[in-house]
Amino acid sequence: MLPIKDKVIIITGASSGIGEATARLLASRGAHVVLGARRTERLKALVSAIEADGGSAVHQALDVTDPKQMEAIVALARKQYGRVDVLVNNAGVMPLSPLEALKIDEWNRMIDVNIRGVLHGIAAVLPVMKAQGTGQIVNIASIGAYEVSPTAAVYCATKYAVRAITEGLRLEAGPGIRVTLVSPGVTESELADSISDAGAAALMKEYRRHAIPASAIAGAIAYAIEQPADVDVNELVVRPAAQR
Ligand code: NDP
Repeated sequence: MLPIKDKVIIITGASSGIGEATARLLASRGAHVVLGARRTERLKALVSAIEADGGSAVHQALDVTDPKQMEAIVALARKQYGRVDVLVNNAGVMPLSPLEALKIDEWNRMIDVNIRGVLHGIAAVLPVMKAQGTGQIVNIASIGAYEVSPTAAVYCATKYAVRAITEGLRLEAGPGIRVTLVSPGVTESELADSISDAGAAALMKEYRRHAIPASAIAGAIAYAIEQPADVDVNELVVRPAAQR
């Protein structure tokens, strides 16, 4: 196993849910975690908690829809720790609704955060990893990257796109740069809070009865990171045992 200790790991969307759990787990394993999200007060509290446990973390405001802010957090990681070993492209939103509700603004927000955000992460970090000769990009998709469900057409489309981009990156990135897709099933987080459509919210409430803790997905991310340097874990699908 590769030690996670001393790896420099940027995590987007670290202010709640899977990103927060991943930050806590990787920091507890000795990584230097660089945390980005828009709710900086949450990140500040998380950094304090990690430091109180003897871990190493910094944070910076990050809106992944802005490529300059993505570049800035990569610059922070390099300034603070001298390199970037892993980027976890985790930030995402999921305002579900039936297509006929025509929530065009919400469609665009999902496209901007879930697809463009991942591309901005890749753009900011790929030249750095190429120059280093090593690195790993972990993109968070969803079981919605494999199957479409009612009210989730646009969300699933964004996650199918993340899966396609990840496979393209794997083919192109070259030796030394590992590329991983982690696709969660229903997981405890704040993801469903942004659903404004009453019908979609009710469906999701029922669906989320079997949710697994965010730490389960953090564990999958850590597994991919800690494999030997010549082992590239390409896809992990992690869902509740009760979820079909
Ligand atoms: P949360 O809502 O708890 O976390 C989402 C994170 O993304 C938050 O930290 C949020 O921070 C951040 N975020 C949202 N928009 C932006 C933005 N524009 N710029 C930067 N950060 C942003 O949900 P999860 O933890 O569940 O979501 C994490 C990932 O897991 C997402 O990609 C999601 O699609 C995926 N996923 C989750 C599943 C689940 O059941 N929970 C299932 C399948 C996939 P802030 O608002 O502070 O910016």
